[in-house]
Amino acid sequence: MTVLNRTAKSFLLQELLSGMWLTLKYVFRPKVTINYPYEKGPLSPRFRGEHVLRRYPNGEERCIACKLCEAVCPALAITIEAEPRADGSRRTTRYDIDMTKCIYCGLCQEACPVDAVVEGPNFEFATETREELFYNKERLLANGDRWEAEIAANLQSDSPYR
Ligand code: SF4
Ligand code: SF4
Repeated sequence: MTVLNRTAKSFLLQELLSGMWLTLKYVFRPKVTINYPYEKGPLSPRFRGEHVLRRYPNGEERCIACKLCEAVCPALAITIEAEPRADGSRRTTRYDIDMTKCIYCGLCQEACPVDAVVEGPNFEFATETREELFYNKERLLANGDRWEAEIAANLQSDSPYR
C-alpha cells in the first residue's frame, strides 16, 4: 500500500504541486526580506558599530586624553599619546584604534567620561586590506563629524537607561 501510495504521488506530481501552491500563497503576502543595500532595517540606539571620536559643537575635540579607554580595552586595540597644549589643556597627539583587534565590546565607550569615543551606527566599513582598518585620530574625528547627528540622537534616546 505504501509503495502504491508513493508511486501514485510521483505520477500525479503531488509534491511538486504542493510546493508550487505554497510558493503561490507566499507571493501575495507582505515580504519579510528587504532589498539591502537599497533598503535598511532598523538599528538599536545601542548598536555598536564603527568607532568615532566626537567634537563639541564649537569644534573642540571632546577627548581629554585620560586614557581610560586605552586601559579598559581588553583587546589592546587602542594606542594613545598625549601632551599638554599651550593653554594647559590636555589633548591627544595620537589616537589609534586597530580595528582588526577590536571585538566591539563597547567598554571604551562606557569608560569615556566625556562621550568622546563612541561606537556609531555605521556597519558598512569593510575593506580590502588590513591596513585600511588601522584607524588614526584624523580618521576617527572624520567619522565623528560624519555621524554626529545620529550618534547624538542615539545617546539622547538611551540616556534614561544610563
Ligand atoms: S570596543 Fe572593546 S575591543 Fe574595541 S576598542 Fe573598544 S574596548 Fe577595545
Ligand atoms: S576617548 Fe574618552 S576615555 Fe579615551 S582618552 Fe579620550 S576622554 Fe579618555
